[in-house]
Amino acid sequence: MRLLLVEDDEMIAETVLGAMRRSGYAIDWAGDGRAAELSLGNDVYDLVLLDLGLPKKDGIEVLNAYRKRGGAAPVIILTARDAVDERIRGLDAGADDYLIKPFDLDELAARVRALLRRRTGQKQPIYAHGELTLDPAAHEVTKDGAPLPLVPREFALLQALIEEPTRVFTKAELEEKLYGWGEEVGSNTIEVHVHSLRRKIGAEQVVTVRGVGYRLKRC
Ligand code: CA
Repeated sequence: MRLLLVEDDEMIAETVLGAMRRSGYAIDWAGDGRAAELSLGNDVYDLVLLDLGLPKKDGIEVLNAYRKRGGAAPVIILTARDAVDERIRGLDAGADDYLIKPFDLDELAARVRALLRRRTGQKQPIYAHGELTLDPAAHEVTKDGAPLPLVPREFALLQALIEEPTRVFTKAELEEKLYGWGEEVGSNTIEVHVHSLRRKIGAEQVVTVRGVGYRLKRC
């Protein structure tokens, strides 16, 4: 799951980025309206956290343009307590939910989970591949019906692989799925995650394609 945070206040941004990363999401940060539009042009996001008062381009304009060209990721707007009009305009422009600043990080995480659950619930509830199942909404993996506890990065790695089970992913592609921009990624980070994932789900489940990357075993 990859999120985008659009927020010009660095203190708030740092806090939100930290909290979301600890919850296991890859999250990028755009510090103004123009940067937000550029980022949203990539269409890689599963959810957007959008501050409305932004330099260079207003958050409402960003949201309007995003929805107009078919951008479908859920959007949570972040607004000031007294900005009722702004909130209404945001919801009219296609926001799915809002939070009033200052907000509680646990509440933010809960709303993010709820919106992602709704979204994945509509798309595809549970992935199954051979003996494995992965339920993105419940954050659960099973092998032969028995639950396997995975840490967030292992889960994200398996989710990337199982979403496109026949595709070979390069390390760079997996890094992009697991990490936000500017996050420190060591040169052998993906190997380390693959190694720990294999220990939990079985070494044979993740196949190394020499010189290219990784895919799930065929079944
Ligand atoms: Ca602001």
